[in-house]
Amino acid sequence: MNSYRHNAGLTSTPEFHDGLTIRAASIKTELIVLLTIEPPGITILCNQSPHTASIEGETTVAITVKNPIVEMDGDEMTRIIWKMIKDKLLLPHLTMDLKYYDLGVKHRDETDDKVTIDAANAVKEYSVGVKCATITPNAARVKEYSLKQAWKSPNGTIRSILDGTVFRKPIIVKNIPPAVRSWKKPISIGRHAYGDIYKSVEYKVPGAGKAEIVFTPSGGGEKVSLVIQDFKGPGVVMGMHNTEKSIRSFAKACINYALGEKCDLWFGAKDTISKTYHGFFKEIFDQETEAKKPEFEKAGVKYRYMLIDDAVAQIMKAEGGMLWACMNYDGDVMSDMVASGFGSLGLMTSVLVSPEGKYVYEAAHGTVMRHYYEYLKGNPTSTNSVASIFAWTGAIARRGELDKTPEVTAFARSLESMVVKTIEEGTMTKDLAAIAEPKVQKYALTEEFLDAVAARL
Ligand code: NAP
Ligand code: MG
Repeated sequence: MNSYRHNAGLTSTPEFHDGLTIRAASIKTELIVLLTIEPPGITILCNQSPHTASIEGETTVAITVKNPIVEMDGDEMTRIIWKMIKDKLLLPHLTMDLKYYDLGVKHRDETDDKVTIDAANAVKEYSVGVKCATITPNAARVKEYSLKQAWKSPNGTIRSILDGTVFRKPIIVKNIPPAVRSWKKPISIGRHAYGDIYKSVEYKVPGAGKAEIVFTPSGGGEKVSLVIQDFKGPGVVMGMHNTEKSIRSFAKACINYALGEKCDLWFGAKDTISKTYHGFFKEIFDQETEAKKPEFEKAGVKYRYMLIDDAVAQIMKAEGGMLWACMNYDGDVMSDMVASGFGSLGLMTSVLVSPEGKYVYEAAHGTVMRHYYEYLKGNPTSTNSVASIFAWTGAIARRGELDKTPEVTAFARSLESMVVKTIEEGTMTKDLAAIAEPKVQKYALTEEFLDAVAARL
């Protein structure tokens, strides 16, 4: 490696610096100009407008990402992939200020999980984070990693600090056909992750008796009681709730996402049957979308309310390209339906969006434990890194948008298209090779896939 470091203030008229000659320019994408520099082998990516890039090492000139990204490292196979992505695809091309938090389970344990809270607060401060998959410990994991206790799910902790909603979006690749023929564009799912049956009380009714809902106002005033059922014999009963604050945050996060992605927003509920409970969700969505009407019009984004059964029927006939906002249970079920419909967990990305516009990007899958055990034994693995790469590109592109640095966003988009192109030209990991059309004879190992992408950059 040559050991020089050089900061070049580049303008549209290339300058000479320390004997480096910028030789040729060719348009790579609309935004990026690819320049080749003397001595040969050095490439530089820069914007057409006046721009500063830094040159480091032998062949590297990086685009500078203006503001920090919060990086949350994770566990097992995804932690291995994480480092490869950074080393092979990102750090040779980008100068980034990464605020690093190690959310690996051992470090969470050492810090009594304080590191997770610190990471979430850092996202509050810097607005953009990217997270590697992490272990949510159960009893077996507590034993395996000798943990002090079964710490809470890091995603749950981060979500509750940011008050965010998780959106899942599949990556579309031509030779991985979706199960539903009409799906041409990604369907994003926004799941309301608070309340309903997930925070309910249930009771198995042993025999005849009256079940009631009773509301006692904290500030005094009359109690309200409603009869659920006058049981004549055994049965079962459940009480569930939601809060206006949470539903409103959910609606706002969906609107932020739809406006950011410039995709239509669908919301489905069953307000014909549940006029008050589901009706309340519909009312809040109506109010929040109405308040953003000018933004919707400006972005060319439409809001549609449908009954949930109609939404399900419509989604099967649609091309895709929308955000489907779902109540908690619908989102749980429908996100699995959409994920498997699009092919593989390895192609599903996920982003947590807060009502204040803070973002945490990640892959939707877990730490791919089984592959990690093979890796530890020294056996070859073929783990799909695509969703983890897209977690990074999602964060980098968002950073570029917030910082108004289009060359940063363009780099992320260009990396995404190189990943898709690599698969479309037949290089893919085992999970995709099994479902690709036409069939692929030889699948790529974990590192081979990343090298194939890196070679295109
Ligand atoms: P997982 O890591 O998603 O893996 C389940 C199986 O799906 C794998 O064994 C593999 O199947 C396949 N798979 C998932 N991602 C893949 C990829 N990128 N490439 C190839 N195949 C992939 O789920 P898990 O094994 O149930 O969970 C492992 C750990 O992840 C758990 O400790 C859990 O707490 C954690 N988790 C974390 C998150 C998160 O941080 N967001 C989410 C879910 C789970 P084959 O083995 O058949 O190849
Ligand atoms: Mg589910």
